[in-house]
Amino acid sequence: MFRIPNKLPFASLLPSFEGDLYFDESPEHTAQRILYATDASVYQEMPIAVALPKSVADIKKLLRFAQQHSIGLIPRAAGTSLAGQVVGSGIVVDISKYFGGIPEINVAERWVRVQPGVIRDDLNAFLKPHGLLFGPETSTASRAMIGGMIGNNSCGLHSIIWGTTRDHLLEVRAVLSDGAEVTFGPLTQEQFDAKCKGENVVSPSNNDCTFNSATGSQNQAFVNTSARATQANRHPTEYRLCARCDVEFF
Ligand SMILES: Cc1cc2nc3c(=O)[nH]c(=O)nc-3n(C[C@H](O)[C@H](O)[C@H](O)COP(=O)(O)OP(=O)(O)OC[C@H]3O[C@@H](n4cnc5c(N)ncnc54)[C@H](O)[C@@H]3O)c2cc1C
Repeated sequence: MFRIPNKLPFASLLPSFEGDLYFDESPEHTAQRILYATDASVYQEMPIAVALPKSVADIKKLLRFAQQHSIGLIPRAAGTSLAGQVVGSGIVVDISKYFGGIPEINVAERWVRVQPGVIRDDLNAFLKPHGLLFGPETSTASRAMIGGMIGNNSCGLHSIIWGTTRDHLLEVRAVLSDGAEVTFGPLTQEQFDAKCKGENVVSPSNNDCTFNSATGSQNQAFVNTSARATQANRHPTEYRLCARCDVEFF
């Protein structure tokens, strides 16, 4: 399980990194990396480093560093995933410490803007006085965070009626692997057509190739008749092509 001491120049990040960074063989850094070598799953792997970014600028620095040195980033919220999603040999990026804000709520339109480290039950405690509730209710709701719930498309006891996390998601602001900041949200037909042609794509290297895979009658027929499309309503960590086939653009 333990890797050889890493030789990457993590110290070069320190002068401008606002958050916390653990990467060397000192007892403090090693203890932190051992803690992050596990999540709620049975898997165990020592990360080369652990980062707790404090800002989007920190996240971009980590992305640049990872790209320069060909290592992976592993975003982590509460770490309650059961399939080893937040364990790996790259840099574990824990957003639970510094990204727990709720910057905006619009009660009339029934939406709230949250940072990814907001705990599901804390969000509902915040929403309760406004008569609102975020429905998806994982068994780990007192720990699970919105970033992790989006990553897993988390659901729970009432999800068949109340929907899963993706059913309540209006838009997501994200930083792509090349550092580009994007907002994923609803598109008009014109915006969608432009994206399919590769126009106005913020980050060409990250263009969403699945746009095209859900078009074409042969592809749609295959997706619609597959067992996955007809029998299951929850598909964590994939592109849910069957739902795309229902979108009027196709
Ligand atoms: C006892 C037990 C019961 C459970 N019951 C349920 C249940 O009823 N329903 C259910 O759906 N799940 C359940 N789970 C699984 C898990 O608790 C949920 O999926 C939970 O919502 C995950 O949230 P988390 O904050 O722990 O995410 P994490 O495990 O930290 O992360 C989940 C995924 O999201 C990604 N991620 C996290 N933050 C970000 C970010 N900022 N940017 C990009 N990607 C990010 C991670 O890389 C990972 O792939 C259960 C787990 C346990 C241990």
